[in-house]
Amino acid sequence: MILKLLDHIKVEHIVKILNVEPVARNVKRFILEKPVGYSFVAGQATDISINQPGLTEELRPFTFTCTNDKEYLEFIIKIYKGHEGITEKLSVLTTGDELIIHDVFGTIHFIGPGVFIAGGAGITPFIAILRQLKLDGALAGNTLLFANYAEEDIILRAELKYMLGDQYVDILKTPTKPGAIGAVINLDLLRNYSTQKNAYYYVCGPDPFILAVLEMLETLNIDKAFIVLEAY
Ligand SMILES: Cc1cc2nc3c(=O)[nH]c(=O)nc-3n(C[C@H](O)[C@H](O)[C@H](O)COP(=O)(O)OP(=O)(O)OC[C@H]3O[C@@H](n4cnc5c(N)ncnc54)[C@H](O)[C@@H]3O)c2cc1C
Repeated sequence: MILKLLDHIKVEHIVKILNVEPVARNVKRFILEKPVGYSFVAGQATDISINQPGLTEELRPFTFTCTNDKEYLEFIIKIYKGHEGITEKLSVLTTGDELIIHDVFGTIHFIGPGVFIAGGAGITPFIAILRQLKLDGALAGNTLLFANYAEEDIILRAELKYMLGDQYVDILKTPTKPGAIGAVINLDLLRNYSTQKNAYYYVCGPDPFILAVLEMLETLNIDKAFIVLEAY
């Protein structure tokens, strides 16, 4: 009975935006107030709505990109322009505007070292996880394969590269740097990064990206128990 009642209690916190800044093409970083007692595990997400008339019930899921020890919340959000969705409305908000954050829910979380395979904004849970691993001194044995269209789309490249060094790998479909050759995640590339014994494969990105990577991991005979997925 108590559980049933709790089921119906919606967690809602109105929080102010403390800062907004661009971090890549059509991608913004939002720093928000953190409610007292609010906590999450790296890789988890919450639903966000905008505290404005007509928008409070328009919930969209976004992943915390900071670690839980911080006194603020950070989200990195890709803005889909031109179809009047919520991300477009978020993109015009500024310091002092209010959002509503809801329950924390589990998505991807770290269960052991391995290969993180991200497509575009699918990097967000991995940002939190890698930052947490850095805090814990446990980054060794992890590799990031980060697929994007071009250099200007790469989210937090400098920080990720700094954390992972040679274990950070860019895969750019249409690089703009003179002489650079376009590439996508394919079987040969994944084969090269699937030699580590008992490695986990964390995959996050748009549906078609997830499906393609999943198919390749299956072709490489990676046991499903070692694959952790999240579709964006
Ligand atoms: C658990 C989870 C965590 C997530 N975390 C993050 C995160 O941390 N950061 C982040 O950036 N995203 C994240 N996402 C994705 C994010 O929730 C969506 O991008 C967001 O809800 C889009 O909201 P919207 O109202 O702008 O678009 P919606 O109207 O809800 O449509 C979204 C989709 O429409 C597509 N679209 C693009 N252009 C058009 C168009 N012209 N017409 C119609 N459709 C179009 C986009 O591909 C997009 O996927 C997460 C998703 C999930 C499930």
